[in-house]
Amino acid sequence: MTARQLFVTTALPYANGNFHIGHIMEYIQADIWVRFQRMQGHQVYFVCADDAHGAPIMIAAQKAGITPQEFVANIAKGRKPYLDGFHIAFDNWHSTDGPENHELAQQIYLDLEAEGLIERRTIEQYFDPEKSMFLPDRFIQGECPKCGAADQYGDSCENCGAVYSPTDLKQPRSTLSGATPVLKSSEHFFFKLSHPKCVDYLKEWTQDGKLQSEVANKVKEWFTPNEQGLSGLSDWDISRDAPYFGIEIPNAPGKYFYVWLDAPVGYLAALKNYFVNGGPLARGEPRSFEDFMASPDVEQYHFIGKDITYFHTLFWPAMLHFSHRKTPNNIFVHGFITVSGEKMSKSRGTGIDPLKYLSIGMNPEWLRYYMAAKLNARVEDVDFNPDDFVARVNADLVGKYINIASRSAGFIGKLFEHRLGPISAEGQALIEQLQAKAASVSQGYEDREYARVMREVMLLADLVNGFVDQYKPWEAAKKPELRDQLWSTCSTCIECFRLLSLYLKPVLPQLVSAVEAFLGVAPLRFTDASAPLGAGREIGNYKHLMQRVDTAMMDQLFELEGSPSAAQATKAASNSSKPKAGKDTAEQTATTPNPSNPSNTSNPLAPGGEDIAHEISIDDFAKVDLRIALITACEAVEGSNKLLRLTLDVGEGNTRQVFSGIAKHYTPQELVGQLTVVVANLAPRTMKFGVSEGMVLAASHANEKEHPGVFVLKPWPGAKPGMRIH
Ligand SMILES: [Zn+2]
Repeated sequence: MTARQLFVTTALPYANGNFHIGHIMEYIQADIWVRFQRMQGHQVYFVCADDAHGAPIMIAAQKAGITPQEFVANIAKGRKPYLDGFHIAFDNWHSTDGPENHELAQQIYLDLEAEGLIERRTIEQYFDPEKSMFLPDRFIQGECPKCGAADQYGDSCENCGAVYSPTDLKQPRSTLSGATPVLKSSEHFFFKLSHPKCVDYLKEWTQDGKLQSEVANKVKEWFTPNEQGLSGLSDWDISRDAPYFGIEIPNAPGKYFYVWLDAPVGYLAALKNYFVNGGPLARGEPRSFEDFMASPDVEQYHFIGKDITYFHTLFWPAMLHFSHRKTPNNIFVHGFITVSGEKMSKSRGTGIDPLKYLSIGMNPEWLRYYMAAKLNARVEDVDFNPDDFVARVNADLVGKYINIASRSAGFIGKLFEHRLGPISAEGQALIEQLQAKAASVSQGYEDREYARVMREVMLLADLVNGFVDQYKPWEAAKKPELRDQLWSTCSTCIECFRLLSLYLKPVLPQLVSAVEAFLGVAPLRFTDASAPLGAGREIGNYKHLMQRVDTAMMDQLFELEGSPSAAQATKAASNSSKPKAGKDTAEQTATTPNPSNPSNTSNPLAPGGEDIAHEISIDDFAKVDLRIALITACEAVEGSNKLLRLTLDVGEGNTRQVFSGIAKHYTPQELVGQLTVVVANLAPRTMKFGVSEGMVLAASHANEKEHPGVFVLKPWPGAKPGMRIH
């Protein structure tokens, strides 16, 4: 087999905060793949970098009274404990503000310009007259043009979900200075993604079968013309005006590349930097970065989250292809991480804090194993379920795999002077069964079907434990006449343990390194599957290799810092769901809050499964206007199995339309003619099926799975539509 040359990256994290668990999941996924490739004897260049540019970082640095460079350097300093802590072995960690990236981004731009793919257009944008800068969408707030909700961002309304342009906002103001922004025109640079040669190229590149099928299907939608008949792919605004923390556009004073143009170029920059810092050139190898990237043998792969698919399957290959560079061999897209089935934004809580995980003494390889047991090659969200985590680590990893060594190694040490003995025919058959899985295990890693690999390995561990149970070494050890059988049983176990360790090595690098030391073998590679230890081999003293998870650690992991009641804090946090100003596109991988009880999303001891909310004043309550409503009509909603459309008389002289998610619990006939309670002053909400002008009150348990049922409120007889509830 010829050694492959692989260039592998993970997405570049935005350098305005520390890593969250979503980053760590992606790095673990890529790190497992890289370690597997190296065990196959392939050469891998695995790099990443901080995504350093853009308005959010510039503004955060201003607020902190430091330069953006200092701001980014501070963030970069904090990266190492996470990466080392979870055994994530990048060859290089660089920054998109490095000189290599400035040079590469500018050269790529000039190449695209020479291809006729750059166009200048004058556009009108909001400008902050006090700060003297154009405002990114996320730094403009005002009233929603659709529903009138206050304090909405320039791109979309959190109240009604409307998406609009910042110039549509009513009463706009700059969140930087409070000033009313003024419209100002400016020349912007566009990358002509809609150019037929781009569209043709990208159709081919995205639909030739390399991409995951879900990804290819999603991308296909983007090529479809929209309702206004506009071509699917629109040109991309790649410039920003000074002041901006970024890379200057050549021959265009005061113009900078939009951060998303130079961010992926950072993959190349990080690799180029590695060639001179620790990589081939530093090792005295004659190969240059340019030669490497020009080589047709080099394969290029990017691991990313699903939220940045557009950038990586359209902009990035187009930028590379039309600047006459190698395009990625594939983009490996993964889903988000959820905790106990709940997906929430970062702003709702810190989720699982990776450094806290380490600081309370939790083993990083537990998480690596758990992630591997959940990850496959599809774009599915991965759920971190605390009970499942404990079960898989304790029952599978320790209970099945580690247990094989702890059940057999002691006898080899005590009774056979640390030497392995001859293996019986039954033992040999078992070993061959394990060896036969080598190809399937490697294919599973290659295909990123880690969950399948972990299942296969645990099934093999079951076989070995069954073998141990059959020959019962602890009983055989008491009978001198069974000495040979005992020796064979334990030697078989050790050989099987070696094979399972080999199969788990990409996931558990530190543990397997300890296993290699214990067995006295060179670092295991996949070709070693067919090279058994053999009789006469001396092994070391067995020391326990891995502890079980203590469930108290899980409680500690999910405990909110400095909060009297985790449940209350979670609830309070969920009220302020405004996303933080991220890199003006979709948020990075979402994380979730800390449930007060990690094993359950609801608290079984609290009334109705959830703690009573924070105390409020009578004035707070008075803000909620609850009225008696008569349900005058009710119907099912076509296209929804959850919603009913209710027509309500609230004594206003006209009726209101309210959607309610009670279709599974009530038929329209049951509801028509009944009185109920409605929140009458709730801001109208535009839903897929129409505007909802209020909310009908209903009761349910926090854990609806175990306590099913939704119960609509109904006043005592005598109440009339329109009466207020005090
Ligand atoms: Zn709105």
